[in-house]
Amino acid sequence: MSETTRSFDELLSDCVHCGFCLPACPTYKSWGYEADSPRGRIDLMKGVEQGAIDLSDAVVEHFDRCLGCMACVTACPSGVRYDLLIEETRAKVEREHRRDPADATFREFVFAIFPRPDRLKLLAPLLYLLRKTGLQRLARESGALNLLDERLAQLDALAPDISLAQLRAQLPGFTPAKGARRGVVVLVAGCVQRVFFPNVNASTARVLSAEGYDVSVPRGQGCCGALSLHAGRDGEAKGFAAALLDRLWPESGERPTAILINAAGCGSTLKEYGQLLRDDPVRAQRAAQFSAAVKDVNEFLAGIEPRARRGAVPLRVAYHDACHLAHAQGIREAPRALLCSIPGLQLLEIPDGDQCCGSAGVYNLFEPESAREIGERKANNVAAVAPQLLASANPGCTLQIRSLLGARGIDLPAAHPIEILDVALANAT
Ligand code: SF4
Ligand code: SF4
Repeated sequence: MSETTRSFDELLSDCVHCGFCLPACPTYKSWGYEADSPRGRIDLMKGVEQGAIDLSDAVVEHFDRCLGCMACVTACPSGVRYDLLIEETRAKVEREHRRDPADATFREFVFAIFPRPDRLKLLAPLLYLLRKTGLQRLARESGALNLLDERLAQLDALAPDISLAQLRAQLPGFTPAKGARRGVVVLVAGCVQRVFFPNVNASTARVLSAEGYDVSVPRGQGCCGALSLHAGRDGEAKGFAAALLDRLWPESGERPTAILINAAGCGSTLKEYGQLLRDDPVRAQRAAQFSAAVKDVNEFLAGIEPRARRGAVPLRVAYHDACHLAHAQGIREAPRALLCSIPGLQLLEIPDGDQCCGSAGVYNLFEPESAREIGERKANNVAAVAPQLLASANPGCTLQIRSLLGARGIDLPAAHPIEILDVALANAT
């Protein structure tokens, strides 16, 4: 989404109360309360801003329950920047509202782990051992996990299966182009993606190399700041963004053809660095240049003439639109075009496909009940088209949908579109 220099008040005043956004909003769909709709939340923001409403627990709850899915931004005919409004509101909540101690502690725990790939990496072998030794199954079957706080139990339910090969996976720092070189791209490795879905990054490097690009994955990459930004921890998000910018787009040096990312939530934040770091005197200009160079890998590949031959992948594939790809970045056609370029693949459209799956970054950890209710609707819709494979371009969505289908006894395999393309390229040889 484009940058803006308009004030919070001006952004609020863009809403004309038409209500077109209401049917698009998953939380309004769930409960039918005006205060849990985009229009209602904007009114609450206005009230708080003007001092007419206190930032009470009840008011904060309506903001907390917002998924940040941006379906309302797509639906709004007046161009209301709800993305910026909720971002600013969440930062205000974190600055001025005192959370219940258990909630505050859980949030600190999540942010001490998830945006820190070095700590996530330590967690991965532990998860592997719990699964391998059967301790996790034992804890689940004995009901011991039911004694945990619901949010910790939710963490367990969402934990991905990890293999030894994944634990050992090392993404090469440099993968040379195959054939005539078309350019050089820098791959952002992500946090959850790097640790729990290393195959997605490996596939991304292979496909780009086959398409004629040198792929560089600079070492020492930290978090992009997406999770922190979407939770109102704007100081933390700016710190992460500044460090990653300095690593990937230093003050001098050769500029790559593009900065690529394969996780939707991270991509939308990377494209916002110009806005996020606009007041940073040493980084504002670089941040804007960097954001202009960022592309989601689907977007990048759909924009170039394909060079590598695709072999057949004869599967019925349901493509799930991640909110931060479809609504926040407006990328809907590119992943579909890539999948449709694969011979034998049958693309299935999920009913109500523009609705969130309830994952929404760490929303499913902080608001497990609401996330489950919204996620169940998505699981119903995915199951309705009876796919053999789910394609999803965001790790959080993949975990959420697989977990909810798994609870129904449906073990639906899932893959990022780039992994499916990688298989198609391998099948051509
Ligand atoms: S971001 Fe999503 S959940 Fe929040 S108000 Fe908009 S549509 Fe509703
Ligand atoms: S946010 Fe947009 S669609 Fe929703 S009520 Fe306001 S102007 Fe209408």
